Parts: sequence; structure tokens; C-alpha cells
Amino acid sequence: MQIYADNAATTKMSEAAIRTMTEYMQTWYGNPSSLYRIGQRAKEKLEEARAEIAGVINAEPREIIFTSGGSEADNQALLTAALNGKKKGKTHIISSAFEHHAILHTLKKLEKNGFEVTLLPVHENGIVRTDELEAAIREDTCLVTIMTANNEIGTIQPVSEIGAICRKHGIVFHTDAVQAVGHLPIDVKAQNIDMLSASAHKFHGPKGVGFLYVRKGILIQNLIEGGAQERGKRAGTENLPGIAAMAEALKESVADMEKKNAHMAEIRDYLIRGLSGIPHSALNGDAEQRLPGNVNFSFEGIEGESILILLDMRGISASSGSACTSGALDPSHVLLAIGRIHDVAHGSLRLSIGEDITKEEADHIIGSVREVVEHLRSFSPVWRDLTEGKKEFILK
Ligand SMILES: *Cc1c(COP(=O)(O)O)cnc(C)c1O
Repeated sequence: MQIYADNAATTKMSEAAIRTMTEYMQTWYGNPSSLYRIGQRAKEKLEEARAEIAGVINAEPREIIFTSGGSEADNQALLTAALNGKKKGKTHIISSAFEHHAILHTLKKLEKNGFEVTLLPVHENGIVRTDELEAAIREDTCLVTIMTANNEIGTIQPVSEIGAICRKHGIVFHTDAVQAVGHLPIDVKAQNIDMLSASAHKFHGPKGVGFLYVRKGILIQNLIEGGAQERGKRAGTENLPGIAAMAEALKESVADMEKKNAHMAEIRDYLIRGLSGIPHSALNGDAEQRLPGNVNFSFEGIEGESILILLDMRGISASSGSACTSGALDPSHVLLAIGRIHDVAHGSLRLSIGEDITKEEADHIIGSVREVVEHLRSFSPVWRDLTEGKKEFILK
């Protein structure tokens, strides 16, 4: 049995997206900036894709800028709000402690350039509190950037409430919705979202393409200078095959979304119940306010990396709560942000299931994780210390 349970890292391209991409490479190969018919047809196709994508999030076509993915969209959104804020003397930014590194590292760069950043706590449940957001707002706040759904623990943030607060205070609100677009309903107007980032490869589109929504009226700042593509706001010949495939994948993803989500949530909860039976384990993040495809568990007394290798040998592709940075194994900043200590965070597992997951596959996952955790604990020095009472269990 081969089970791909790492859809939060990337998804398999859909058949329709592959077909669209191939067709566009063969047929619509013109440069959208060229004046002859082949170029102008490509331009029309580009605008068709833009209109389709805008429609899905209730934006206007001219509010969509195509980018190379979620990271670029995040970078451009933050630069836009920061430069616009600075012109008015506003240099304070509010974000959360468990954003994606595309946000956190950009904020670090802005801090080095004179901006001040407040990172809101996300508490044990992995959700920001709107009263704490409101309390953090200052006269000089130029941006609030809070993700729609977390990529590691899947917790969904109160985006509509955050949007309403920001609108009331006249502050630009950006949301990294890379884990949400194509998976949750989004309406930028109703939710008062000013900027939003998305990435095609998280909803069965191709890698290396995404988009940034910027509400009209906000002056967009360029990250990439050059030609006049994207109304002068993002230079570079448009990746039309990728963009068309992204539009196709998004259309497919939002069709029957409710039904697909209901199925995934049912299997997710089945997995959560099954894995909860493992002693000294805990679910990470709120059980209800979470993406239908996300399961994230910590198991005391083991290391996440070894779980992954052993699960891979059983045909399961998953992800851990650690990231290998410069040779050292750092526990995930997300798990630390919800209060997991280093040791516990290290023994964490993220399963991000797809809409085609079956009950039989879930059973195979539960059985394999039980087996692997038990096996790893049988020779773990940390587990021995815990069971011999030399160390206190943290997870009951
Ligand atoms: C994957 C991801 C990104 C980065 O998107 P890329 O298209 O890979 O650059 C940003 N934010 C979140 C929440 C993600 O999950």
C-alpha cells in the first residue's frame, strides 16, 4: 500500500491541470506581450485564467497578480504594506509566532530596516486571539499579517474577525492563505481581506506558480523590476502554461469542496481517534478549528525523523515536526509556539491527507504508526528514563 500523506508539503498535479499545461505549451506558446495574433491569443488566455481565479475568491481580475508561488506573494505583500506604511511614518507590523518562514524571514529583514514587529502568541490551541490583536494595534501599525490556516498543525484562524478589526482601524490586512485556497471557502470582500497569497502546488496545480490578491486602491510595490507585465507590478514573461493549469486546478478544487471536506474530516477524526490510543501522545492544535486534511501528533520518547523513515518503509509519506537547518535538527517553530517543549516537539508527525484517502488507508496508517512508535521507544534512552521515573512524562 502506497499512501501519500504529505499534501501540505505539495500535492500531485491533477489530470486536468496536466492536460491544460500540456495543451498550453503546445498551442498557446506566444508571448502575451507580443502584438501579433499568436501573442494576443496568449494574452486573452492569460486574462481568462485571471478572471477565473479572481472569481473563486470574489476578487476582481485586476486585483490578481501572478507570482512564482506562495513565497514570492508573501514577500511582495509585506514589502507593499511596509513601503506604503513608511511613507506615512507607520512602521509597526503585527503578525503571529507561527507564520510560514516566507513571512517570518521577511519580517526579520524589515526589522533590520527600521520596522517594529509584534508577534501575537497562538496559545495551546494554535489560534490567535482577536482581543490580543486589538490590544496590539498602535497608531503607527501599517500591517496585520496572519495566515488563514497553519501549514503544520492545520489550525484555522478567525480571518473574518481579524479582517473586520483591521478595516475598523484602517490597517491593511494580509493573509497567507496558501493552505486554504482550494480547500476552504474564501471571499475577500466579505472577509475584509486586503491582500492574500496563494500557491498552485498546494491545490493540485503545478509548482512554481501562485498569485497575490491586492485590493484595488492599494499601491502595489514591485519585488521584481523589468518589463511591464502584470501592469508593471511584476516583471517577467508570464508563465502562461502554469497559470492556466493553476486556474484549472483551482476550479476543480473548489467544485464539490463541501463534500470532499466532509469526507476528509471524517477520516481525519478517525485517524485522530486511532492515534490517540497510543500512550503518551497528543494531538497538536485545535481539534475543531482545523483543516479537514491535517493530523499532527506528538509522541513522547522518540524522534520524528526516525518515524518518517520507518513509515516510508511501510509505504507512507508523511512529515515531521522538525526542520533540518544547517545540519542541526531544530524543532518546529510552530510546535514551540503552541508550547511543546523541544523533546516533545521532536517526536512529532504531520499527516496531511488528500481527498481520495480511504478508511483502509487510514487503518494502515494507524497500525503502522502504532508499530513504529512502539519499536522506536523500545530502544530510546529518553523513553527508558521516562518509564523508569528518572524523567517526568509531559504527555499523559
Ligand atoms: C507552501 C507554503 C508557502 C510557500 O509556497 P511556495 O509556493 O512553495 O513558495 C507559504 N506559506 C504557506 C502557509 C505554505 O504552506
